[in-house]
Amino acid sequence: MKDSVPTLVGDDTKCGFCTKSCPRMIEDYRPIYTEVFGDAERDSALGVFLQAYALRNADEKIRKRSQDGGVVTGLLLHLLDTEKIDGAIVSGIDPENPWHPMPQVATTSKEIIAASKSRYTRSANLVALAEAIKERKLKQLAVVGTPCHIQAVQRMRLAPLKRIDRAVVMTIGLFCSETFRFDDLMQQKIAGELGVPLEKLRKLDIKGKLLVYPRGAKESLKVPLKDLAQWVEPSCHYCTDFASDFADISVGGAGTPSKWSTVLARTERGQNLIEEMIAASKFLREEVSSEGLDMLRRIARPKVARQPP
Ligand SMILES: Cc1cc2nc3c(=O)[nH]c(=O)nc-3n(C[C@H](O)[C@H](O)[C@H](O)COP(=O)(O)OP(=O)(O)OC[C@H]3O[C@@H](n4cnc5c(N)ncnc54)[C@H](O)[C@@H]3O)c2cc1C
Repeated sequence: MKDSVPTLVGDDTKCGFCTKSCPRMIEDYRPIYTEVFGDAERDSALGVFLQAYALRNADEKIRKRSQDGGVVTGLLLHLLDTEKIDGAIVSGIDPENPWHPMPQVATTSKEIIAASKSRYTRSANLVALAEAIKERKLKQLAVVGTPCHIQAVQRMRLAPLKRIDRAVVMTIGLFCSETFRFDDLMQQKIAGELGVPLEKLRKLDIKGKLLVYPRGAKESLKVPLKDLAQWVEPSCHYCTDFASDFADISVGGAGTPSKWSTVLARTERGQNLIEEMIAASKFLREEVSSEGLDMLRRIARPKVARQPP
C-alpha cells in the first residue's frame, strides 16, 4: 500500500496471491458462502447469522470512549485478557496526522482502547496482518475490519496459505455503507469548510447525516450525506456487502438505540465468545427488535442489490 492505495511493486505470475485475496477482484461470492457456511439459510440483506443481539459494554468508561456500544473494544479486551489472542489487527491513528487511520497490531489493552471509535476513511488494516504474522511472529490474532477487510481475510483463509488460517482466530466485521477520501472529507470539509481543526475533533458519526462533534461542544455539526457522495472511495462502488457477511461476529450502530450495538453472531465460535461475555457480565444484553432488524435490512439492501458500475 502506498498512501493507502494498492500499488503494484513487483510481478510474480506464479503466485497471484494478491489477486486471489483482493476483495474487489471477484465477481461471485456465492461459492465462498457455501464454503464458509455450508447450506445454512442466508438472510438476503444481512447474510448468515445464528443470533442477533443488542449489546452494550458494561464498563461505562470503555463505552464512552467507543463509537456505539463499545462492543468491538470489549470483545478485543476480553480476548486478550483470557489469552485467546496475543494481538489484534485494528485501525489506529497516525500519531503525526490526527484522525488519519493507520493499520495497527495492538497487543495491549491500552492500544486496543486507543484504537476505538470509527474513522470513516479508508484504513488498510490488513497491512498490519502481514506485520503481525511475518515480523512479530504472533500466533493468535483477532482481525477487526470493514466488509472488504473481512472478505479478503476469508479469501486468504480459503487459499492454501495455512499460516493465515491458523493465526486468525476471530474476525470482527463492522457494518459499512462506504468510506470517504481522507483529504476531501477530513481536510476539505471538516477542517476547511466546517472550521474544526482535526486535533480538536472528538467524534464523527453517521446516523442518517454526518455528525461532527468538536471537543467541548454539546451539539454536533450536521452534514447531509448527499454532500459527501462525490468523495466516496471509488472501490466502495463495487462492494455489495454491508454487514461484513463473512465475519465471525458483525457489529454496527444501526438497528438498536444510541449507545448500543447491533451484533450478529455468524459462527459458533463467535456466538460462544458473546455468550461467555454476557455470562461474565461484561456485556449488557437486550433483544434486537424486529423493527430494528427490518431497518437494518432496509439500510443494507441498496448496497447488497447494487449493480457495480
Ligand atoms: C468506515 C465505516 C463505516 C461504517 N458504516 C456503518 C453504517 O453504515 N451503519 C452502521 O450501523 N455502522 C457502521 N459502521 C460501524 C460503526 O461505526 C461502529 O464501528 C460499530 O457500531 C462498532 O461500534 P463499537 O462501539 O462496538 O466500536 P468501538 O469499540 O469503538 O471499536 C471500533 C473499532 O473499529 C475499528 N475501526 C475504526 N475505524 C476503522 C476503519 N476506517 N476501518 C477499519 N476499522 C476501523 C477500530 O480499530 C476499533 O477497533 C461503520 C464503521 C466504519 C469504520
